[in-house]
Formats: sequence, C-alpha cells, structure tokens
Amino acid sequence: MPPAAAVVGRSIMKAFRHLATQDLHTRRVEEAYRVVVECVTAVDPAMRLYMFGSTAVYGVHEKGSDVDFVALSETDVEDGKGEDAATQVAKGLQAEFLGKLAKVVRQKHFSWNVEEVRRTRVPVIRVKGGGGVDFDITANRRNGVRNSALLRAYFEQDPPCRWLSMGVKRWSKRVGLNASVVGGSITSYGFNLMVVYYLLQRGALQFIPPTAIDVAKVAPVPPYLPLEPPQNDGVELGDQVLDFLQFYMHEFDAAHHVVSLSRPGITTKEQLNWTKDAEDRARMNGEKINYQWCIEDPYELNLNVGRNVTPLKRDFLRKHMDKARETALLTST
Ligand code: ATP
Ligand code: MG
Ligand code: MG
Repeated sequence: MPPAAAVVGRSIMKAFRHLATQDLHTRRVEEAYRVVVECVTAVDPAMRLYMFGSTAVYGVHEKGSDVDFVALSETDVEDGKGEDAATQVAKGLQAEFLGKLAKVVRQKHFSWNVEEVRRTRVPVIRVKGGGGVDFDITANRRNGVRNSALLRAYFEQDPPCRWLSMGVKRWSKRVGLNASVVGGSITSYGFNLMVVYYLLQRGALQFIPPTAIDVAKVAPVPPYLPLEPPQNDGVELGDQVLDFLQFYMHEFDAAHHVVSLSRPGITTKEQLNWTKDAEDRARMNGEKINYQWCIEDPYELNLNVGRNVTPLKRDFLRKHMDKARETALLTST
C-alpha cells in the first residue's frame, strides 16, 4: 500500500523547506546575464542574449541550477516563430561565433573554466564561473527559448504545478535517471514534457499550440513568478504525485504512444514513424536513437527527447517509479 496523499505531499514539502528561506527571485541571475552580455557584445554588438531553461520555465532561480543562455541575432528574434536551421553549415557558424565568445570569456574572466563542446547535436560552451553560477551558452537557436516559454505558459495556467515538476526533477537527479548525472537518460526538459503531458491528459491544463510561441514576444530575462507554498498542507500535491506515477506506470502505453505537446490528445509512434525499423536505422552523431520511451520535441523536427532511453533504462525508469510511490519521490527516507 502506498502512503496516503497527505503523507506524500508533506514529505515533499519538507524536502523543499530550504526554499522558504532562499531568495528565489530571478534577479539573482541578472548579474550572470550582464556578464555574459558584456562578452557577447564584445564579439558582436548586434547580438541579443536570452535566458532559458529552468529559470525561464519556473520563473524562479533555484540555487545550484545552471543557467542556459542563447545569443540570437536581430533577425532570429524578429522571425521569432521561425524554424532553427539544422544544417552542418549553420552548426559551423554557431561554433565559430561560440569559439570567439569563449576566447573573450577566458580573457575577461581568466579564473573561469570555459569548455567548447562541439560534438553535441547543438554546439555549446559550458562555463563554470565564479560565484557558484554555471552556465551554458548556445548561438542562433530559438528552440530553447521557445520550448521554455511553452512550458512556462503551461505552468502559468496553474502555478502550483511547478511543485510536481520540481519534485519529479529532484527525484530524477537523486535516483540517477536524470541525464545530468552519470548513467541517466532523460533530461530535466524531458521530465517537464512528461509532467505537462500528464496534466494535459488529465484535463488539468488547456492545450497551447507550440506555434503560438513567438520569441519576439518573450522577455530576454524571464520575469519572476513567485512560488507559493503548496495549499492544504500538500494534500493536492501528494495526490498529483501519486497520480503522475500511476499514469506513467499503468496508463501511458509506452509501446505505442508518444509523450507529445505538439497536438492535443494521443500521438502514436506509428504517426511519427518512430518504429522498430526506424530505430534499427537511426543514428545521431554515431549514437543509436531509441524509440522505447518516446517524448516528441515540440519544435525540433523528428527529435525524440527520450532517445537515450534504452530497453534497460526504460526498465530502470519503471522500477524507480514504482519505488517512488513508497518513498514519496525519495523524500521520506
Ligand atoms: P536543470 O535545472 O536541471 O538545468 P532545465 O529546466 O534547465 O533543468 P535542461 O534539461 O537543462 O532543463 O534543458 C534546458 C534546455 O536544453 C531545454 O529548454 C531544451 O532546449 C534543451 N534540451 C534539454 N534536453 C534536451 C533533449 N533531450 N533534446 C533536445 N533538447 C534538449
Ligand atoms: Mg538548465
Ligand atoms: Mg543547461
């Protein structure tokens, strides 16, 4: 018997009690923003800097979370619903800009660790900076800004749902399912898509067409969205967490269906041609693409955000979800 919703909710609230005494205001990362703007301007004064990822999605900054930045040209912003180019040429140009930017960052902040990562799907520089704030910088790609704004627009419909998302993210990192830890396979972004898809299936949120999100209308530094403590001593939160686990363990048909925010209702693997046959053929940067646990990216064409979930990792996911009911997302031990 899993513990009662009230017990689960209270346990999760306790795990987040440190947030009550923390300044969660997004202004805490504005300093990092200014520093990066200064470096970007030194390379190309016409480039604009946007913050995305968890700070944008939640409208709060949790201590220890990295900050995601992207440098966009004026045209990228004006054409804020445009598709990102996925060509090698585009990737080369992005890497070239980021190379220059890395140089400037190293010059201005010689004690920081700046790493240029070129082998990934998207060229990125990873900065481990002073003051405990780490950040990633990409270039000329709107999709991160758009997907973060989309997730945020969903959470704005029901701001307390951020607790479910934060609880799931914390758990995924602690049990080693999150791609940010060794052996993990689903990123925080992937878990957020799962959370919102679940809420949509339950009718707790209204569908938003991804095409509605326009970078030209998104603030470069995300506005603060205060995080109130869960209502009713966490009873609803506990309910939601148990129901989320129930949904992915027993209702979501992982063999045939896809977690997707691209259209309302059900999306099948067949529809996207994410079949066994495609799985045998598909490669990305030489690595196998899995279609075991499918999460459709709302903006990238034909991209499974769950592509690293092998059959073994899918079984881990199920096992951990099963345990998570007992442990209130690993907060009760
Ligand atoms: P955290 O607090 O753990 O950093 P986060 O909300 O910032 O969480 P990330 O997983 O770091 O989420 O994702 C940041 C951005 O990176 C996303 O908005 C998305 O554009 C991109 N991204 C992350 N994972 C994937 C993926 N598997 N496929 C494609 N894009 C991804
Ligand atoms: Mg992040
Ligand atoms: Mg990041």
